[in-house]
Amino acid sequence: MVYDLAEGSAEMKPLLGGKGAGVAEMIRVGVPVPDGFTVTTQACVAAMQDGGRWPDGLWTEIEAHLDAFEERTGRRLGAARRPLLVSVRSGAVVSMPGMMDTILNLGISEESVVGLAEESGNPRFAWDCYRRFLQMYGEVVEGVPAHAFSDEIAALKNRRGITEDTGLTVDDLTELVATFRTVARHHTGEELPTDPREQLRRAVQAVFSSWDTPRAGVYRRANGIPDDLGTAVNVMQMVFGNRGDTSATGVCFTRDPSTGAKELYGEFLVNAQGEDVVAGIRTPRPLAEMEQVLPDAYRELLDTMDRLEHHYGDMQDIEFTVDDGKLYLLQTRTGKRTAAAALKVARDLVAEGVIDRETALLRIEPAQLDQLLHPGLDPDHGTSPLTRGLNASPGAGVGQVVFDADTAAERGEAGEAVVLVRWETTPDDIHGVIAAQGVLTSHGGMTSHAAVVARGMGRPCVAGAGDLRIDVEARTLTIGQTALTEGDTITIDGSTGEVFAGALDLVPPQITDDFTEVLGWADEVRRLGVRANADTGADAAKARELGAEGIGLCRTEHMFMDADRLPVVQAMILAEKPDERAAALDRLLPMQQADFTELFTAMSGLPVTIRLIDPPLHEFLPDLVEQSLLVQRLEDAGTGGAELEDARTLLAHVKRLSEANPMLGTRGVRLALLFPEIAQMQVRAIARAARAVRADGLDPRVEIMVPLVGFAEELRRMRDVVETTWAEEVGADGGDLPHTVGTMIELPRAALVADAIAEHADFFSFGTNDLTQTTVGISRDDAEGSFLHTYVDAGIVPANPFASVDVDGVGELVRIGVRKGRSTTPGLKTGVCGEHGGDPASIALFHEIGLDYVSCSPYRVPVARLAAAQVALGSR
Ligand code: ADP
Ligand code: MG
Ligand code: MG
Repeated sequence: MVYDLAEGSAEMKPLLGGKGAGVAEMIRVGVPVPDGFTVTTQACVAAMQDGGRWPDGLWTEIEAHLDAFEERTGRRLGAARRPLLVSVRSGAVVSMPGMMDTILNLGISEESVVGLAEESGNPRFAWDCYRRFLQMYGEVVEGVPAHAFSDEIAALKNRRGITEDTGLTVDDLTELVATFRTVARHHTGEELPTDPREQLRRAVQAVFSSWDTPRAGVYRRANGIPDDLGTAVNVMQMVFGNRGDTSATGVCFTRDPSTGAKELYGEFLVNAQGEDVVAGIRTPRPLAEMEQVLPDAYRELLDTMDRLEHHYGDMQDIEFTVDDGKLYLLQTRTGKRTAAAALKVARDLVAEGVIDRETALLRIEPAQLDQLLHPGLDPDHGTSPLTRGLNASPGAGVGQVVFDADTAAERGEAGEAVVLVRWETTPDDIHGVIAAQGVLTSHGGMTSHAAVVARGMGRPCVAGAGDLRIDVEARTLTIGQTALTEGDTITIDGSTGEVFAGALDLVPPQITDDFTEVLGWADEVRRLGVRANADTGADAAKARELGAEGIGLCRTEHMFMDADRLPVVQAMILAEKPDERAAALDRLLPMQQADFTELFTAMSGLPVTIRLIDPPLHEFLPDLVEQSLLVQRLEDAGTGGAELEDARTLLAHVKRLSEANPMLGTRGVRLALLFPEIAQMQVRAIARAARAVRADGLDPRVEIMVPLVGFAEELRRMRDVVETTWAEEVGADGGDLPHTVGTMIELPRAALVADAIAEHADFFSFGTNDLTQTTVGISRDDAEGSFLHTYVDAGIVPANPFASVDVDGVGELVRIGVRKGRSTTPGLKTGVCGEHGGDPASIALFHEIGLDYVSCSPYRVPVARLAAAQVALGSR
């Protein structure tokens, strides 16, 4: 349960925690580190599982290691001569906030403070250590509020007429020590223990308990850290950076963590201890200046930084202390870095021959790449948000608040920066979304209209920010105490979901050489193809630029939502007679053809999967309630004639088409079989566009996809419609335009009878959004705003199944679908086009199942390329 630091190593991280293993490894490679021992994470877990009761023999084991430690150093805790002083530091396997703060100078007591004063020849230093210890110990272990101590220091300084702590004399500090004891007794109702061993025992217990604080629990759940890892406790001999002008303490990185540049990066303070550097009480000096002040320690530090970076093959974040001219390292760990720095460090370390490409690829966090593709907030903004919603579409946007799409479009097109703030957006708002810097809604989840549209277009979006009070009539937005009116500037961060008052600084997207090069390495090792979901030529071009190898999903109905097309679509839906419908479709055909021409042009030489119409028809008509109200209003106003008649007719159609469960209603292939002429029109438009693009010397690769198939017979019939129409169109050309026909697998039944369905399919594309809804029986839009978050927080489900694929349920269906599909159609191409296609954990599963490709939104393409490479490397 306890290891001497010299017994540990980096491999023992699960047992010794990150800090303990890191320190042990430094000893192993000969870097100067203070002596000490580590109580293991397992001891912590055992204690916490037993309601805080320590496992048998733990204290005996700690005391045995302490005895040996005292023996080695020739010092004893609390001794009047040559006292041993230690720090007590928590250190979990993954570094996490909320754990117990470090206690410095444990071992100082009424006796040993005298010994320390004598030994150092500096009584002030000794008494300062003592009062710092009481302060930290009282606060951290005994729960005395921090201000109780700091108030006393302030009062004393006031009485002395001084402003700096350094002005306190030995007598002042002696007085403070006594006062602190009284303060602690007042708060805890008992004397602070005076025996350092008892203090140590309580400090270890406090570290254990900090693993189970609510704050730590919340952090672990938010970051997917298991509750049973536990934290280790490191007890280390104190070294003193506050011994005088030949002592110092500091932190440094082996490279610049924001740019990745290989240059000196760090800060130090002369005559200071531990937290003085981070606490911001005194302003630290740039590391380069240490060369003048402490030249020998400085040179040794640079040399050590280099050794540690080579040893770990990665950028390190280091804490050090110089004790009377001698350098000690107190911590080293992998340095946190921006995405830009991650790429540069990876590329440079490979170029320097420190690591190979594969290692470099495994080091980069795929999700982090998103940062680079959108303008983001300057990470050092230091501003607190007004509120927080869902981080629905990454990137940051700054602009004036506007409350409707027309205003957004008008002012946006005039070159003003605006943020569209709505309860929720609708297809009617698209022009406003396009012209805005970002979208903020008070309602709706990650798949709300605003979120989907914004993601597709690469606009930042914060959705479902429930604290917003929007008054469209009054043109005001209230968030808590803050009242804003139209025209006031706000900043939204779609990567975090935060909303800020005023304009924060943005940093531009950074597609650098590092980005291109490192992702190029990823392409060489991955097996999974990566395509994009894109509906327009512009999106397709963007996707291609980001490395997409085709389009995995083009949603044709998005083309129907356009303002000048919607009336034609409605006319088609409302048509009473076949020839009226045919006329409307004739008008739609060239419009769709133009869209497909753009897509095929942008993706020449690469496959383009076009899905035939999917949503229920009522989605193209006005809302039932609104239309009823309109009719009511017209009736009340006594408006008669054609206007009322039209409104009533439309209402009748809306009523006729409305369904109790539209998601499971007349949509997908069912709709297309009911109105084959719609699908025929789409196939003609596709074929004509392909021919036109081919005539221009380009290379269209057409894949036609039928949605929501559950029965093989549906696909057989639909394929018939498609092939007949295709033959009619391309017959003139000799029929040599390549095309394939496949289906989405988005119903459990489809996966289960995939062998029968595959007989009519050239490819399967798993629509894991709908497949998740239909498999787990959860409606995403309803659940994300209500019980789903509770489910995730309470650990009922391991993760939101719409963000990361449900491995055991949906994943199993995908596996079955692939196996059965290939059993009847060897060489069946298989892919995924749900949002899971851009999620690294899901990508790992899809790789393992053996899919051919994933398809995700254009901005997720780089993430998917890297994640696919990492899983390929991992499974080697
Ligand atoms: P954190 O996890 O918050 O970084 P640490 O225990 O690493 O906690 O550090 C808290 C501060 O105490 C750091 O500045 C560190 O350098 C200092 N510190 C920890 N142990 C010692 C020690 N044995 N001697 C001197 N300073 C120490
Ligand atoms: Mg800490
Ligand atoms: Mg530290």
